[in-house]
Amino acid sequence: MVALDPHPLRTWTPTYSAWADELPSWLPETAVASIAPKPAVWTDHHRIIDRTYCVLDTLALQTALALDRVRVLAGTAIDVTGSRVTTSDGTIVDARHVVDARGTLDSRDLAQQTAYGIVVERQRAEPILEGSDAWFMDWRTDNGAMPGDVPSFLYAVALDADRVLLEETCLVGRPALDLGVLRTRLHHRLSHRNLEPTGNEDVERVRFSVEPPPRSQLHTGRGGPVLFGSRSNLMHPATGYSVAASLASADHLVERFRGGGRSRRSRPVHIWTVQKLRNLGLRTALSLQPEMVPQFFASFFSLPVELQRSYLSGHDDAVGTMTAMLKMFPTLPASARIAIARTVARPLHRG
Ligand SMILES: Cc1cc2nc3c(=O)[nH]c(=O)nc-3n(C[C@H](O)[C@H](O)[C@H](O)COP(=O)(O)OP(=O)(O)OC[C@H]3O[C@@H](n4cnc5c(N)ncnc54)[C@H](O)[C@@H]3O)c2cc1C
Repeated sequence: MVALDPHPLRTWTPTYSAWADELPSWLPETAVASIAPKPAVWTDHHRIIDRTYCVLDTLALQTALALDRVRVLAGTAIDVTGSRVTTSDGTIVDARHVVDARGTLDSRDLAQQTAYGIVVERQRAEPILEGSDAWFMDWRTDNGAMPGDVPSFLYAVALDADRVLLEETCLVGRPALDLGVLRTRLHHRLSHRNLEPTGNEDVERVRFSVEPPPRSQLHTGRGGPVLFGSRSNLMHPATGYSVAASLASADHLVERFRGGGRSRRSRPVHIWTVQKLRNLGLRTALSLQPEMVPQFFASFFSLPVELQRSYLSGHDDAVGTMTAMLKMFPTLPASARIAIARTVARPLHRG
């Protein structure tokens, strides 16, 4: 087996989180840095989500993904087919199967998620957490944003026993909010809650596309490589989560190759349907009036946790995803239902 990356020895640094039930059983416990058994959301009011959320230990995760029996090459792929990779220095690697996991594009034409966060000691963060294990989303408007501005929420999770990440997040935008705006909003929100950032805190900056590259830029179909990770449908376009889905799908991929190209567990129609429904979720998120966004999530988090899971996790539960959306729709305010109906009626222009 051969792996190719421009910087194979680079240490990963982003803070990755996931729902605990999404993680594959082979992932060692050491890869989990902190657990929030009952994270909270603030939509129109405070709610507890009865589903364990966890923050991964990025270094331990990287270490756990051992490459012992893999020949690792440093290089940049410039041409990738289903059986051959050509790199920028002219190296050619032929293989029975090629997996293209080059991530998505950093393009403002794609919907992106942005966030700006600071890391503070647990003691300083306690008043912000207000007794919650974590804030999965806090949509309160004390961040200085004006009515009609693109909204952002506070995300607050423990990185370990001593440190908490406080992050102002723009869930999705095309374009997404600039990091400078998010920084200002975070400081405004924290000051309002009696936490004055000193400017010496460690900072996390987040910007990534929540959509794969346009199909016109991918080699798909017969003769193309297998797409994986955020380059494929493993990225949830309405939330930006992909890490747990990719980890959980690794075994399916191996099984698929062992089975000569088809996994017993693959359900292409279900996967396709889920992707279409999630893309609709993304278009809805992009088209909602700012003041409707917290109400939208109030409806979402009123769903039973099982349906929340169907919508947020995995990538082939078509019935669960559809049920979650249908159950949620009548609970939304009329203006949000009209916006969604318009989104459904509007043709999709992207390739
Ligand atoms: C700060 C931050 C926090 C995040 N938090 C979360 C989170 O909590 N949960 C979550 O699910 N997601 C999170 N995300 C999103 C997450 O990063 C991505 O979903 C995830 O990294 C996608 O993984 P990937 O392996 O598909 O692609 P990438 O992580 O983009 O990896 C692509 C790999 O391909 C290599 N590559 C690129 N081009 C070439 C080439 N031409 N030839 C060879 N190799 C190439 C790159 O070097 C890289 O190693 C976060 C992102 C950021 C930036």
